[in-house]
Amino acid sequence: MSTVRTDLRAEITSLLDRHQQLAVSGNAMQGFNKYYPPDYDPEKHSSLNAYRGKHALGDRARKIGEGILIVRFELPFNIWCGTCNNHIGMGVRYNAEKKKVGNYYSTPIYSFRCKCHLCSGWFEIQTDPKNTRYVVVSGARQKEEDWDPEENGGFAVHETDPNQGPVDPLAALEKSTDAQNHMNNVQVPRIEALQNLADHYSSDPYTHSLRVRRRFREQKKIEKAREEADESIKSVYGLPEALALSAEDDETRAKAKQEWEEGRQVLEERESAKRRKLGAEVVSVMPRASSSRSSARSGQSSRPSSSSGSKTSDPVSALRAKILGNTAKQSISIGGISRSKPPDPKSARALVRRI
Ligand SMILES: [Zn+2]
Repeated sequence: MSTVRTDLRAEITSLLDRHQQLAVSGNAMQGFNKYYPPDYDPEKHSSLNAYRGKHALGDRARKIGEGILIVRFELPFNIWCGTCNNHIGMGVRYNAEKKKVGNYYSTPIYSFRCKCHLCSGWFEIQTDPKNTRYVVVSGARQKEEDWDPEENGGFAVHETDPNQGPVDPLAALEKSTDAQNHMNNVQVPRIEALQNLADHYSSDPYTHSLRVRRRFREQKKIEKAREEADESIKSVYGLPEALALSAEDDETRAKAKQEWEEGRQVLEERESAKRRKLGAEVVSVMPRASSSRSSARSGQSSRPSSSSGSKTSDPVSALRAKILGNTAKQSISIGGISRSKPPDPKSARALVRRI
């Protein structure tokens, strides 16, 4: 019975020991659990981490003795690895060794050492508080794609320290002398000329206003007269209201005259062509009629007579003479005021009867 109890006690003790060992070693764990071992003394050990000999940041602080903390660092720009020459894009993240390497005034300068994920070569990037940027210190090349104000017509400020004097005093003096000359020879005369011009135009506004208003009234009068003339023309010829009439001047008048002459010429040509056609028809009709009838009846020749006295002797000749006379009269009266005579109904009837 006692042996069984002793065994049980030994087993519990060993279990407790194992538990304590696990809690103390913590498997590289930080003090997440709140188990305080029996030999923990708050006065001796300030914290559970200190009791276990662990840093609060755990494994990331494994080089804390060298002043190095492991942090997640994201590449702020594109680089080429100096070891394997591969391009590494902006935004790739590394477990970098962060270390303070200096100060710019009171601002610490940090360096980040990263191991290339393609070749295991190291490269180092530092902060640059002076220019508020990052610079590659070693092991890689930065891809230059920064916006350069000088390239784009702006001005770059390279030196912001106000205590630093001009680099070359003579150059600065020359520059200021040039600026002074430019102001005296170019800027001052230009400003004076502008001032004079402004004085000239703003000295007597009443006179200027009078002149401008007078000119405006004259132009308005002319415009009104032209409008009235246009309206009267439109009302006379019954033209639509919205029709825009062109202004009457020498050029428009000459153009209109030329167009009128061309139209008249075309009309004359058309009339003469009609006349020739009619004459040809008459010639083709007459000889047949005269040869068939008059030669058979009276033996006279079919030669047409142009005189009006042959009216009684040969009706065909008379008819022809009449038609020719009519067309001649028409051609004379084309384009003129007189109206052409309508064709003689008697002669037409006679022609029909004869045919
Ligand atoms: Zn590499």
